[in-house]
Amino acid sequence: MALYDQYPVEVFNSLGKKKEKFEPLNPPRVGLYVCGPTVYNEAHLGNLRSFLSFDIVWRYLEHLGYNVRYVRNITDVGHLVNDADEGEDKIEKRARLEQIEPMEIVQKYTNGFHAVNKVFNLKEPSIEPTATGHIMEQIEMVQRIIDNGYGYEVNGSVYFDVQKFQEKYDYGKLSGRKVEDLLEQTRDNLAGGSEKKFFADFAIWKGASENTIMKWKSPWGMGVPGWHLECSVMSTKYLGEKFDIHGGGMDLKFPHHECEIAQNIGAGDGDPVRYWMHGNMLTVNGTKMSKSLGNAFLPMELVAGNHELLDQGYSPMTIRFFFLQAHYRSTVDFSNDALKAAEKGYKRLMNAKRLVEEMDKDVVESGNVQEEIDAEFNALCNQLYLEMGDDFNTPKTLAVLFDLSGKINTFFNDHLTRYSISSSTFRRMKETFTIFISDVLGLEDETEGNGSDKLDDVMQMLIEMRAEARANKNWDLSDSIRDRLNAVGIVLNDGKEGSEYVLK
Ligand code: ZN
Repeated sequence: MALYDQYPVEVFNSLGKKKEKFEPLNPPRVGLYVCGPTVYNEAHLGNLRSFLSFDIVWRYLEHLGYNVRYVRNITDVGHLVNDADEGEDKIEKRARLEQIEPMEIVQKYTNGFHAVNKVFNLKEPSIEPTATGHIMEQIEMVQRIIDNGYGYEVNGSVYFDVQKFQEKYDYGKLSGRKVEDLLEQTRDNLAGGSEKKFFADFAIWKGASENTIMKWKSPWGMGVPGWHLECSVMSTKYLGEKFDIHGGGMDLKFPHHECEIAQNIGAGDGDPVRYWMHGNMLTVNGTKMSKSLGNAFLPMELVAGNHELLDQGYSPMTIRFFFLQAHYRSTVDFSNDALKAAEKGYKRLMNAKRLVEEMDKDVVESGNVQEEIDAEFNALCNQLYLEMGDDFNTPKTLAVLFDLSGKINTFFNDHLTRYSISSSTFRRMKETFTIFISDVLGLEDETEGNGSDKLDDVMQMLIEMRAEARANKNWDLSDSIRDRLNAVGIVLNDGKEGSEYVLK
């Protein structure tokens, strides 16, 4: 019997309304698709949180014995500024600003994204497809949508016909929006003399102008695929026309995911997703995190502590722990107090893990097993599965791990109680406790041997951040990074080949 038979998982149903038992289409295989980043700048903390949530989903399903194919795309073309159908491509705009090739922008920020994921111990996906790598497939889907009567061409662009779709299907069923309610928001859009037949129509192929750098030949002329299209194409190409889980940030529910559903149905493949999962947003001291409010920071700024809102820097695993203290469907509020509490909590958990790893129950058998204490330990181990099985409830899972930590500490302080549970219960507790911390929640012990690799990764990023600050003549920032590192006993030596660090 597989673990997943023993410990079922409850998730929200296809419209995210009601919890039901997770039943993959072809067990033990599970298809998981997550909308990845548009690589035109550094991934911010909100992105990290979202990808961390799905890292946990993946880790737990694999722990239960499922064989998960995790597809997370890279958007490297087609995402226009303001997420609208008009305007410049985000990547091209950045490329003009930095005066380099769009593909250099893509490479630079893809590398940065991977580096951050590594620092925070996110597993890389099974497949990481790119929009530019799937232009043929996207053209083919646009054609199918047109052939089925759900798309129309105007001046080299192709739009999805929402009114036609509405005759038979419900556009807005995922987000709960009504097409009529959208009118208000898009009135400005129409005022600009839109090519669309209907205000809610969206581009699935966008004709390119002469100045556009990234563009491809299509039956409708030179152009680029619409932003929503790549996910419809790449999810079903790698996971099948119908697949298990589709994830992304809450902000993608509308219009992005609503459009994905419409496109797949319009192309004749049907409603693609069994279960939708949306991660919630970040707030800072109770206020929405946003660049314009000056309260948004990058993951590595949080590690370095270089933002005026931060008292200090926090280690990557403290930040990971901090995120796990909230359920993925809830908002997370950043404050210095909450981060300091997370730092303590993380250390406490790691101490208990080190203690239990050193204990060896098999050496001494007292035969003094007390049934109720033994049962209590087994109940806590089961509870870990019940909490994770409840829509991946990481805060409650952590609470149970802390209950177990408390018990582990009493073992350590009092040798008598240590022999009040059976060897098999002890082994089960030790294994479950450590597996949930390391494999399921992905929390690494930063003081262990592998900590030095992690430190290298973190230092490499800080050195790059500082080099960038220096290149931009931002001496305050570059000095601040050097001084803060100095304060914690790390000295930066600048040489011809770049900077190196030494521990004092
Ligand atoms: Zn997407």
